[in-house]
Amino acid sequence: MTFAIHGLPVARGIAIGRAVLMGGRVDVAHYFIDPAQVDAEVTRLREGRNAVIDEIHRLQHTIVQMGKEAPHELSALLDVHLMLLQDEDLITGVKYWIRERLYNAEWALTTQLEQLSRQFDEMEDEYLRERKADLEQVAERILRYMKGVASPVAPTPRRKSQQDLLLDDSVDVPLVLVAHDLSPADMLQFKQSVFAGFVTDVGGRNSHTAIVARSMDIPAVVGARSASQLVRQDDWVIIDGDDGVLIVDPSPIILAEYGFKQRQAELERGRLARLRHTPAVTIDGHKVELLANIEMPEDAPTALEAGAVGVGLFRSEFLFMNRRGRLPDEDEQYEAYRRAVEGMQGLPVTIRTIDVGADKPLDDVQREEAHLNPALGLRAIRWSLADPAMFLTQLRAVLRAAAYGKVNLLIPMLAHASEIRQTLSLLDFARAELDNRGVAYGPMQVGAMIEIPAAALSLRTFLRYFDFLSIGTNDLIQYTLAIDRADESVAHLYDPLHPAVLQLVAQTIAECNAQGKGVSVCGEMAGDISFTRLLLGLGLRTFSMHPAQILAVKQEVLRADTRRLEGWAKEVLASEEPGKLLGQ
Ligand code: PEP
Ligand code: MG
Repeated sequence: MTFAIHGLPVARGIAIGRAVLMGGRVDVAHYFIDPAQVDAEVTRLREGRNAVIDEIHRLQHTIVQMGKEAPHELSALLDVHLMLLQDEDLITGVKYWIRERLYNAEWALTTQLEQLSRQFDEMEDEYLRERKADLEQVAERILRYMKGVASPVAPTPRRKSQQDLLLDDSVDVPLVLVAHDLSPADMLQFKQSVFAGFVTDVGGRNSHTAIVARSMDIPAVVGARSASQLVRQDDWVIIDGDDGVLIVDPSPIILAEYGFKQRQAELERGRLARLRHTPAVTIDGHKVELLANIEMPEDAPTALEAGAVGVGLFRSEFLFMNRRGRLPDEDEQYEAYRRAVEGMQGLPVTIRTIDVGADKPLDDVQREEAHLNPALGLRAIRWSLADPAMFLTQLRAVLRAAAYGKVNLLIPMLAHASEIRQTLSLLDFARAELDNRGVAYGPMQVGAMIEIPAAALSLRTFLRYFDFLSIGTNDLIQYTLAIDRADESVAHLYDPLHPAVLQLVAQTIAECNAQGKGVSVCGEMAGDISFTRLLLGLGLRTFSMHPAQILAVKQEVLRADTRRLEGWAKEVLASEEPGKLLGQ
């Protein structure tokens, strides 16, 4: 029966496909295999299972040798694990996902685990219900074994066009990811993945997870509360990323309606694509720079493709994620920054120094410690200054990459003059280190993010030290309004048009313009067409956003006349409820 679940829209568009439920295990590989590779993949799974069975037999043998000393519970536990491993239900189920859906073995195993876990949850008998934990441990052991053995199978990335959707059982049907929660690091794993859209139970519109989804340009809904409980594996679902709705088991009429919407969106994309090479100039002749926000050097071609005239925000922290404590060294970082610089073919690239902590943990270990690292904690530049060796490594790597093109350095989350001075002296130190080593590096402009209200209220200090400023509205809103950007329960209070937020944004733009210093907005406001006219009216001429948003914003710029917008923007600023003047 059709039903709808409401959440928060985070990335536009419509996705129609089958649900893939993701339990706790998002860190395993997810890719399709070729039909010819099915047997090899099943063998890999079987070998994984057999290796774990052997391991348990060995343990049992040790226990027998220990005699009475051996803990009785351990022996019973191993018996249960053996029984589960030998249970054909598990293997038959996993084989189904490999053979019929062409999932790689790890993905197939976690999918079957999810399926069985739900059955366990529904059991009346408490003893049986508790076997779920054993099952998870058994699956974990197989996964660990498989991780140590390289897959002979090459991934087959397959992102089926929505247009090609057929409602049959073909393996080519788009897949929609449904999960309780996904961290930005998890999302990164899906960046090259097979999913056509995603839904999570938790998360705010401007959480970093939502931001990565937007950068992937796939429809997404977050804060859908109990979606991961209500949707079943393989259910047909529609994600409406415009309205923030998930429709489960849609009727043919609803499917037809959304199919139509999808085609309309495709047509609109086609129309916008014609603007790619059109310079972004307002009706009254103001040139506007539309830059891209990227997460990885590999995003550079997408930015160019979208007509970006540079990168306004390279969130370098994504290079540091999913590395289990081993951070990239200077050479590895330098290579990555250089790839981004070369990838942009002579256009400027603004590299932001690492911004981790709060809702951007580096990996599971940091995620578990997240309560120690809230948004008000050791985040971004604070984290960097707390570990100068790590920070100097990054600074040297960026300086070296600057020898290959126009690079700007951007520092996140500054508030205090002492932090500014410390940062700049570390930058001098990094240059001196490179001089001593005789290593070449290039010149760079250095800028600061304005994302803490204290920074927006100390502009004179900031402008004394920096070449340019970039307004991080995502955090500026969070910190001005005391609203956790990742918490869906307060998402309705997260308001970019709150008069206090607008004052801070407006003052920053005005002060930079008055002093002839560069200023941009690189938070999500820059890519939201409902704010383009207002920001232009406030004097903003540089916007940085996800590549997928550039053409729509360009269209707004081409239709704008700043002579008219300036007076209107003043009215908006003076209003108690600016949203009303923007029709919101
Ligand atoms: C911001 O805060 O607006 C910003 C661009 O940085 P991030 O979203 O990475 O915190
Ligand atoms: Mg920020």
